[in-house]
Amino acid sequence: MRGGQVDQQRYDIAIIGSGIGGSILATILSKEGVRVVVIEESQHPKFAIGESMILESSEIFRQLAETYDIPEIAYYSSENFKSLVGSAHGIKRHFSYMYHKKDQEENPGELMMANIPKEPYGHEMHIYRQDCDYFYCALAIKYGATVIQNSKIQDLEIDHSGVELKLANGKTIHSSYVVDASGFRSILANKYKLRKYDLETHSRAIFTHAVNVPSFHKVANTQEEYGIPYSLHEGTLHHVFEGGWLWIIPFDNHKDTTNHLCSIGLLLDPRVYPERSELSAEEEFFEFILKFPGINKQLKNCKSVRDWTRTGRIQYSTKKVIGERFCLLGHAAGFIDPLFSKGLYITLTSIHTLAPQIIKSVKENNFETARYQNYEDTVFRFIEANDKLIARAYKSFTDFRVWRKFVVLWVLGAYLEYLKLTLLRFKAHYSDNKRDMYSYYSEIDLRLVGGGFEKFNELEKKVYEILDSINFEDTQDVEEKSQHIFSILLKSAWIPFAIRRYFVENHLNSNQFNLAFLKNKGGILGTTEYRRHFFGELPTLWLLREFFYEKYRYSAANLKKKKFNAYEKFDRFVHIGETV
Ligand SMILES: Cc1cc2nc3c(=O)[nH]c(=O)nc-3n(C[C@H](O)[C@H](O)[C@H](O)COP(=O)(O)OP(=O)(O)OC[C@H]3O[C@@H](n4cnc5c(N)ncnc54)[C@H](O)[C@@H]3O)c2cc1C
Repeated sequence: MRGGQVDQQRYDIAIIGSGIGGSILATILSKEGVRVVVIEESQHPKFAIGESMILESSEIFRQLAETYDIPEIAYYSSENFKSLVGSAHGIKRHFSYMYHKKDQEENPGELMMANIPKEPYGHEMHIYRQDCDYFYCALAIKYGATVIQNSKIQDLEIDHSGVELKLANGKTIHSSYVVDASGFRSILANKYKLRKYDLETHSRAIFTHAVNVPSFHKVANTQEEYGIPYSLHEGTLHHVFEGGWLWIIPFDNHKDTTNHLCSIGLLLDPRVYPERSELSAEEEFFEFILKFPGINKQLKNCKSVRDWTRTGRIQYSTKKVIGERFCLLGHAAGFIDPLFSKGLYITLTSIHTLAPQIIKSVKENNFETARYQNYEDTVFRFIEANDKLIARAYKSFTDFRVWRKFVVLWVLGAYLEYLKLTLLRFKAHYSDNKRDMYSYYSEIDLRLVGGGFEKFNELEKKVYEILDSINFEDTQDVEEKSQHIFSILLKSAWIPFAIRRYFVENHLNSNQFNLAFLKNKGGILGTTEYRRHFFGELPTLWLLREFFYEKYRYSAANLKKKKFNAYEKFDRFVHIGETV
């Protein structure tokens, strides 16, 4: 399609939805020469949720950028890209959790901060999604995808020969295969009755963007009093309590900011806090926070700048994510709860697994469903693992003694996953074949946390079993079982020293580079199975070189030199009124 007209042609791939998932997949496929059409019911820029980044999501951004040689995909992978993506995004130097009990002021000793390593890539970002999603949609156009906005897919017909998509205006589009990236209202999940809800986690959400959200330090203790390396406003603050939690994601937390909004969202277990349908979402929110004085003092004067969103139970999955000439991607496939910000990681890992298969199918004109089995297995493994993790986090919210130990397990699982992902990419560099990244990833059975390390899986299983057996009514039982979890963590000698500190402190080591990290005993490389699993045959000196090379390559100063314009072919954006 050129100059505002849709070609009367059959596309290789149709993607429903130009959210982050649909747009990034469209970019990659187009770059690889696949003829892609993306159909979007609304138009960019538009509100989207999913603002808190994690190390694993950023690492997949880098990996996709390198594998397909599309540097722009990595533009949201750290604060070092600020000069390229603009000043509307916030910075994220940590994940923090402040524990609260009903009708009581918070206890400063019940704060946990998981500070994010600054090295070698820079800290993470709070992504202002309307800009980010607009950017990725523009990128898809730049690399050759046809994007039709303001055009809702009403229905589609699929048979063994291809796909016919029916637009709301009665027109049709034909393709060989369709990716449904249309989010939780997924048209294919509805059509084929694929939704299932047999998940352990139960939560509903109330969220908005607001102004007048002060830093928690302004209404509570200072950074020095908490003894933490970063201000709470410089990252994602979670207030947690029995039956739920609340996110604070500021965009105005750096000196160059041009965005004074703060994202806030409340997640509640509806079995503990059923929806107050007699109240508006806003009324329910403000009435709810009165129960927790520590939360109320931060949010009582905040003012929403858009309508509040209130959802029913937000978790869902699907019976299958692949079928004849179709698959579901990202939010269309399933969602659990944003507690540990794994959503984008799951969406991006799905793209990593799906893209090579689609490219192969197009080349060979063979879209057999069985070819996509690995994709379905990966998506299910991730959704299931996220459900188990978050359901147990909610359980442990009941008592700080348990929650404190759970946070250590969460950090460990996330750190190992990140480490493995990064080292797999390094391994591909070592082999001088970036394209090999795909085969390296398939060496291990990634399952959201733990980096495929069997000893972590065993540890996690044991902790989950103990957690499931706790009688929270019995404080003695809580004490004994939380101590039991602690002793299991202590005895796991393979746990890296960077995490061990978290057993006793309220924050992690700040990662200044130190040569001691590389020593044989007690260094970051660890010993025995841990060392074998994560570092394998990579030579220590080569790792050191790679670390400094990456630090330079992704440094703010180096990135600033890049000139880039994602919007250069923007006249290719099609509105439905323009279609032939
Ligand atoms: C409350 C909440 C908080 C979250 N917080 C985080 C977080 O902090 N960190 C994180 O990593 N992840 C988070 N997530 C998850 C994150 O939002 C998702 O991973 C990500 O947005 C999924 O993107 P997507 O492209 O699959 O879907 P979406 O972004 O939902 O995009 C779907 C697109 O399809 C379009 N569409 C829908 N129906 C049709 C149709 N019939 N025809 C044409 N177009 C259609 C829509 O307009 C939309 O543009 C959160 C999710 C929720 C619900």
